[in-house]
Amino acid sequence: MVERHYDLICVGAGLVGRLTACALASAGFKVLSIDAFSFNEDTISSQDGRTTFVSLKSKEILERFGFWEALVPFSQPIQNILAYEHQTPWYLDYSSKEFTNSPMGYIVENKYVYKSLYQHERVDNLDVITGVRVSSIDVTEYKAVVKTDCGTTYSASLILGIDGRFSAIRKFAPQIIESSHQYDQKACVLHISHEKSHEATAYEVFTSNGPLAILPLIATEEYSNRSGIVWCQKNTFDFESLSDDQIAETLSNLFPHLGALKVISSKWIYPLQFLKVNQLIDKRIALIGDSGHVLHPIAGQGVNLGWRDAEKIIDLLVSQKKLGLDYGGPILLQQYDDARKFDRLSMSFMTDFLSKIYSSNLKSVKLIRNTGFALLNVLKPVKNFLVRRAMGLF
Ligand SMILES: Cc1cc2nc3c(=O)[nH]c(=O)nc-3n(C[C@H](O)[C@H](O)[C@H](O)COP(=O)(O)OP(=O)(O)OC[C@H]3O[C@@H](n4cnc5c(N)ncnc54)[C@H](O)[C@@H]3O)c2cc1C
Repeated sequence: MVERHYDLICVGAGLVGRLTACALASAGFKVLSIDAFSFNEDTISSQDGRTTFVSLKSKEILERFGFWEALVPFSQPIQNILAYEHQTPWYLDYSSKEFTNSPMGYIVENKYVYKSLYQHERVDNLDVITGVRVSSIDVTEYKAVVKTDCGTTYSASLILGIDGRFSAIRKFAPQIIESSHQYDQKACVLHISHEKSHEATAYEVFTSNGPLAILPLIATEEYSNRSGIVWCQKNTFDFESLSDDQIAETLSNLFPHLGALKVISSKWIYPLQFLKVNQLIDKRIALIGDSGHVLHPIAGQGVNLGWRDAEKIIDLLVSQKKLGLDYGGPILLQQYDDARKFDRLSMSFMTDFLSKIYSSNLKSVKLIRNTGFALLNVLKPVKNFLVRRAMGLF
């Protein structure tokens, strides 16, 4: 027996899912949010040590749906980006002054993003179930019924699959066909303190084993100079065997700009994967966020892309509501898929391409990428295009 009917069911309440569910409930939809994980501050802080590059467009989205204000004290604006290949003279530098008067984006620790998304425990029209997995979906002509692993069932006009890279919802959607591969790399995330100020600069150092990103973090009472590290290495590399001092020494060798370094956090390891789908929709199902695209973190774009998916479907659903039309109707779903195609596929292609050319040890590829750096640095229109794309401005 179906327990309750909703307008929309959001499966997954991570960085993208929680924003989507709250924004839709605030827009007057009756929403059920289901997540397999039970969130609280302690579990998030210990499980997710990542920082997120929040693009300018994402800041606008967070602002629009009421989540940015709580993030302001924890957000480090990025005014400069410096990218180069280890042990080569070529580099690419961007300064916000060249492009816009505002920062190119912000670096925020994920624990604060979660905190902001979960700041209002209760949102009108939003029912939340955590610690429960969706285990099946049955789609009929007028509704979709989800069943949880507790045996309860709920129905809605539309199911939003926001359940991440291993999405169960994607598996229940036969018209959505995925193609994916594992990168021969994993990422180690940690935080460091350093002698010199980061001067609001994000650094990316390309090494033959993978990229190393040094992302400026806002000062705390304890550390006036600190940064987040995303260090990609081959899967065979054993991060666990390195002591904090050995990590600091290796990072200092790769990256001497900030003076003496010290590891000030735990280490979190993430396997890296690529995933794209032929379409984001099936009957009464739409995918949002990592369930529909998983990117290499080389350009810090995964959540940004997911929040842009979310904004699009929210706008379409609000228009549908005004017209009194079916929320899971095929026209709305097709509009959503069409609207997200260019952004989704171009970002997937770009990050996959970058991760491949910056991991190759072939001499010819090295020559091409170093020439590319040198050329890009002087070709202002192309540089401008790339930075505006990373900022999510088109
Ligand atoms: C090292 C690293 C660094 C990154 N840095 C950046 C960055 O700087 N900027 C950026 O934009 N992106 C970055 N990303 C990517 C970003 O982290 C992801 O794109 C983002 O977490 C995806 O959010 P999501 O809400 O779609 O999925 P998730 O965060 O994976 O959330 C999915 C949710 O669904 C739930 N769930 C799963 N299955 C079920 C089920 N069957 N039933 C119910 N619930 C379920 C899970 O419990 C989870 O809460 C990075 C990724 C990595 C690995």
